[in-house]
Amino acid sequence: MKSNKRKSSHSTEREFGGTLGATCIPVLLPLTVLYLLSVCRSPAASVLQWPPPLPPIAQLWDPLAAVLIAGWITLQSFLYLLPVGKVSEGLVLRDRSRLKYPINGFHSLSITVVLLSICLYLGMPLGYLFELVLPLAVCAIAVSYLLSMYLYIRSFWAPQHALALGGNTGNPLYDFFMGRELNPRIGDFDLKYFCELRPGLIGWVVINLGMLMKEVELRGSPSLAMLLVNGFQLLYVTDALWNEEAVLTTMDIVHDGFGFMLAFGDLAWVPFTYGLQAMFLVVHPQSLSNLGAAGIVLLNGIGYYIFRKSNSQKNQFRRDPTHKSVSHLETIATATGKRLLVSGWWGFVRHPNYLGDLLMALAWSLPCGLSHILPYFYVIYFTVLLIHREARDEKQCKAKYGLAWDTYCSRVPYRIIPYIY
Ligand code: NDP
Repeated sequence: MKSNKRKSSHSTEREFGGTLGATCIPVLLPLTVLYLLSVCRSPAASVLQWPPPLPPIAQLWDPLAAVLIAGWITLQSFLYLLPVGKVSEGLVLRDRSRLKYPINGFHSLSITVVLLSICLYLGMPLGYLFELVLPLAVCAIAVSYLLSMYLYIRSFWAPQHALALGGNTGNPLYDFFMGRELNPRIGDFDLKYFCELRPGLIGWVVINLGMLMKEVELRGSPSLAMLLVNGFQLLYVTDALWNEEAVLTTMDIVHDGFGFMLAFGDLAWVPFTYGLQAMFLVVHPQSLSNLGAAGIVLLNGIGYYIFRKSNSQKNQFRRDPTHKSVSHLETIATATGKRLLVSGWWGFVRHPNYLGDLLMALAWSLPCGLSHILPYFYVIYFTVLLIHREARDEKQCKAKYGLAWDTYCSRVPYRIIPYIY
């Protein structure tokens, strides 16, 4: 009886290749970040060059980078704690409680922009971030390891109901990777929610700005391609922080524990691989025609429109299905009491938000021309990520909604791209 009870408190399902995946990914992905950054800064920028253009170990460490990363996380933590903006409640947890979250990410971004403007006005050499990018990435990777270790250890003091359903298998490597605790907090400070949209996401656009300033140093003014990449990605980050409340209903917050996967993704992977295009443009300038630029702006605009409209429609529907903007939409009832949208954006494909996101990803790479594959890393990686994420979500929805989900799938047969996938 006792052993049965212990067994049932452990999750048995494994994702991301199980223990093997959870052992290899924490080693391979940090190396991938350093590899991509090194290739991106090399004259050939070719992922096929052999031997790979790896920097000497000494170039991976700079105490200034450690100071900047520590200062950055401290600044963003301070901005998180500022009593500005509203406070929202997350979804109902297994113990029927709801956590409170500060919705002040957009304030953090705005204050950061003001501080950066002051730095630029004072003549601080932001372009130096180009030189510092490898040591910065090393420090961010180190922080994500340390944070994940802390999260893993402290999770053993968390009550059973506070553990994520997926990261609690009893296998230390797998649980370290997936994250045991669902919403680890120090007092009211929610570590997962903080990392999700603040230091890494805002850090990404700051690094982009650094690359733009480096271009100004080298060539006197920023190129059109660099302005587009900076503008598109700033729009994406601003949108995420403007709509910060929506993160409270995402898989990351609702379902996944906080472990290495999210900590590394948020703090190291996003800021140092999502901005490869800007870094590429510093070393490999591109000339872009006005017509080409207009086409790329249009593509980004269409992607953004689909992404924003579909995400907002679902969020509105989940918050208040009687709201006039969604009350006319056709829905399917499910046994849980929740309904599924089957017309509007969510009747077009099963993940219209992913489609919009992918179109934008392509628009971010196109300013870098067609001569290299490296600036297309994000769109390739993101396609794989979203296909995998869609499959995970599909499985969870099937488990949640059973037959109603099957009906939805038969009514809306395509997952992301109409008539293709
Ligand atoms: P989604 O916003 O797509 O949410 C999926 C959930 O929506 C399902 O679990 C289900 O939850 C609900 N849902 C699904 N179908 C319907 C329907 N027909 N009617 C009503 N509700 C439905 O999840 P993600 O967190 O994956 O994505 C959010 C956004 O973040 C996307 O735009 C994505 O592209 C983006 N993203 C970006 C990343 C990046 O690195 N740039 C990484 C990951 C995501 P329930 O029914 O329980 O409400």
